[in-house]
Amino acid sequence: AAKKSGKGQIAFCSEDMKNRVLEKMSMTNSLYRAQERNELHLHYQPQVSTVAKEIIGFEALLRWNHPTLGAVSPTVFIPIAERTGLINSIGEWVLLTACAQNKAWQDAGFKPVPMGVNLSLEQFRNANLENIIKKCLAETGLEPKYLELEITEGIAMKESGDVTRCLRELKAIGVSISIDDFGTEFSSLSRLKDLPVDRLKIDMQFIQGISVNAKDESIITVMINLAKRLGLKVIAEGVETAVQLGFLRAENCDEIQGYYYFKPLSSDEIEKNNFELFTKK
Ligand code: C2E
Ligand code: MG
Ligand code: MG
Ligand code: MG
Repeated sequence: AAKKSGKGQIAFCSEDMKNRVLEKMSMTNSLYRAQERNELHLHYQPQVSTVAKEIIGFEALLRWNHPTLGAVSPTVFIPIAERTGLINSIGEWVLLTACAQNKAWQDAGFKPVPMGVNLSLEQFRNANLENIIKKCLAETGLEPKYLELEITEGIAMKESGDVTRCLRELKAIGVSISIDDFGTEFSSLSRLKDLPVDRLKIDMQFIQGISVNAKDESIITVMINLAKRLGLKVIAEGVETAVQLGFLRAENCDEIQGYYYFKPLSSDEIEKNNFELFTKK
């Protein structure tokens, strides 16, 4: 039975319960096992151009279907994978699977679009990252321009020579690079100027402030203009409502990722629904 605290308030929700159970288990072992037992899979969230009225990309998002706990959020297990170093093998699997899926859709006759893959800082500490990525592209036959690496501001702003060198090398072969959760960490504008970045992803927290907080609206406007003046693309994350969409369109941000259009979906759901927006060539 649920423990009670105070006046009939339930002390935890089911997410908390899952997390506590998880903590009691050996995290490392259950994650190792997850990869071996095929408990990990990817979902794909479409990105939409409101002007062209079509899907212009996807983001690959990792899912863990635990045999007894069910779906575990990546916000819970990614930090564990990072702490244990497991993110290196998991991340390599994500890269390979995302590239293979994107190539398979292209081979099936769908319009070619880039797919974003999230990277953790730990993966850059592995000196081999650029070779891993090149190998994934070579093995799957995906053209580099259809892979977009998503890095957070924290990674992008690391003064580490490794990150810069790795990004420059991948950019040189045609891979694109976006800054994820833009606006939530410290961005040095001079570093932003020097990095080989293609796109800014405006963090959901600002989008949630649309029509609620004028400061969020001003920040969004500034971020859109910053991107445009630097010659970068810009996409808004976490768009859920018509009001949010209306504001963004009025501010000339026409690339949208969010539940308003699509939730992250399995590859089957993407294919079965035969989206009119995901048009055949
Ligand atoms: P992220 O890269 O910023 O991904 C966007 C998150 O926002 C996803 O959460 C997505 O499902 C969610 N989202 C998208 N649209 C909406 C919306 O309209 N409303 C709301 N409320 N949420 C929306 P998710 O899938 O739970 O992933 C959370 C984070 O976990 C990601 O944030 C990313 O930082 C990390 N992550 C996920 N997959 C991977 C991976 O393969 N590798 C690494 N290193 N990190 C990953
Ligand atoms: Mg992302
Ligand atoms: Mg994000
Ligand atoms: Mg995030």
